[in-house]
Amino acid sequence: SLKGLEKTGLIEFVSVEKIRESDWALDLPETRPVSLNEDQEEILENIKEALDKQVYSPFLIHGVTGSGKTQVYIEAIREVLKDGKQALILVPEISLTSQIISRFKANFGEKVGCLHSRMSAGERFDTWRRVRNGELPVVVGARSAVFSPFQNLGLIVVDEEHVPSYKQDDPAPRYNARDVAVMRAKLNDAAVILGSATPGLESYHNAQQGKYVLCQLKERVEKQKLPHVKVVDLAQERKNGNMSFLSSDLSSLLQDRMDKGEQVLLFLNRRGFSTFVKCQDCGYVEKCPRCDITLTFHRTDFSLRCHYCNYQKKAPDLCPKCESYRFTYRGAGTQKIEEELKKSFPKALMERMDLDTTLKKGAHKRLLSDFGRKKFGILVGTQMITKGLDFPDVTLVGVISADLGLDLPDFRSKERTFQLLAQVAGRAGRGKREGEVVVQTYYPKEWTIKLAASHDFEKFYRKELEQREELGYPPFNHLILVVFSSKSLRRVTACAQSFSSVLERSVKSVKQKSVGILGPAPAPLSKIKNQHRWQLLVKTKNIITVTSLIRKILEDEKNAKKKKEVRITVNVDPMDML
Ligand SMILES: [Zn+2]
Ligand SMILES: [Zn+2]
Repeated sequence: SLKGLEKTGLIEFVSVEKIRESDWALDLPETRPVSLNEDQEEILENIKEALDKQVYSPFLIHGVTGSGKTQVYIEAIREVLKDGKQALILVPEISLTSQIISRFKANFGEKVGCLHSRMSAGERFDTWRRVRNGELPVVVGARSAVFSPFQNLGLIVVDEEHVPSYKQDDPAPRYNARDVAVMRAKLNDAAVILGSATPGLESYHNAQQGKYVLCQLKERVEKQKLPHVKVVDLAQERKNGNMSFLSSDLSSLLQDRMDKGEQVLLFLNRRGFSTFVKCQDCGYVEKCPRCDITLTFHRTDFSLRCHYCNYQKKAPDLCPKCESYRFTYRGAGTQKIEEELKKSFPKALMERMDLDTTLKKGAHKRLLSDFGRKKFGILVGTQMITKGLDFPDVTLVGVISADLGLDLPDFRSKERTFQLLAQVAGRAGRGKREGEVVVQTYYPKEWTIKLAASHDFEKFYRKELEQREELGYPPFNHLILVVFSSKSLRRVTACAQSFSSVLERSVKSVKQKSVGILGPAPAPLSKIKNQHRWQLLVKTKNIITVTSLIRKILEDEKNAKKKKEVRITVNVDPMDML
């Protein structure tokens, strides 16, 4: 036996630590220049100075797509490592950011570890232990990595800081990893860099208020032009008799790219929400006159309701604007679009990237690697294709419909749409050839779309901040979303109403003036898994007082020992209002 052999001294047992780690890096060559341009250099100097002082220093890097933010992160991390400290890089979703991870690996090799939810428990344990022992100087991870047990943290980078998935809305603990990162940097006397081509309104506002140092990269690395964006009016296409999802402009540009052997991304916003009505001819959607929020369609009583303030009206049969009878919601999926494309371009090689085609481990990576090697020319996809992709031969990006996001009943719908369009457009023309973008919409005159098309970030932020201030939305107030759910509609309604009036009384009793209570109203998804849902929205500047009032009400409820028939969840500063 082996034991016997050991006794004879012929063999010996030793323990070797085998690190379990899955590989998310893409198999693509490093293509970016390593020397920094003047603008990047200036930002890096700022950061280096802060790192030397070893005090809390928050930066917001607002850099247009392709401006080389990642290279600034990399050089800053190099500085941190020189001092023998650790660095954490947060990315929105690890599987969607394999390209950026491969760049960190190319620069720091074995010093880089990953942390994300798709790892096995063993893989995660090994990485955590190496972080705690200080053996792993650089960690790239999704939101929960912000809680990793660093010994000697010098820098946190939050890439694509505007992305809503940094907020864990459900289940508890409900936290925003971006805000935790800033707090952690404060506690550790570390530097923190928030980076984005389209910073969230909250962060941009913080920078304007002097809470963060604002750094801007206004040009692409090699001075490539930002792509030209053409806005196509879908209502006009319909009038011209084109009922296909491809406008004639997009169709002829597609043909042109196929002829030239260049690559194309077609983007479909699939975060569809089928319970509002939209005119198929003119694109009209009904909004709440008080909250500027898309009204939600309720099939049961054929009503349209605002799920913030509970304003309601009867759903019209004809479009109030153009009197068309085709006043319904209808959306196409990526699969249907792929089928139609194959009919129009039978010779083109294309692949589809959405939840269905990326279920298998590694499928996502394979698709992107193949696209990078130009094995096919057209990539059709959902949100997945908007982030961080850097393929120099993509010269055309088509947005099938910019409206799905704009129509969402969420006060952030304009911000999200602007960010999405900027990010998608940013995928075009990153190489030597100029890029072009076609945005199809029923709202060609809507300012969100116009400003996204002209790449005018400052003006968009200014206008949107004005509107938010007027309506009292964040960043001018905190929001608290209280959701009530139960099998019984009667109970859920009663509970929401009594909660609301108790809260109103206690707010009055502590003489809090600037607290707005909206609702209660049915939640936008008013029934999930047989549970009826109602909600209450609270706007306030004084978050500490109001949350403690709410906590008190919840405790009283618990102590009353009533049967727990209604579930109540409280979400402070929700990122997802649906
Ligand atoms: Zn109409
Ligand atoms: Zn309303």
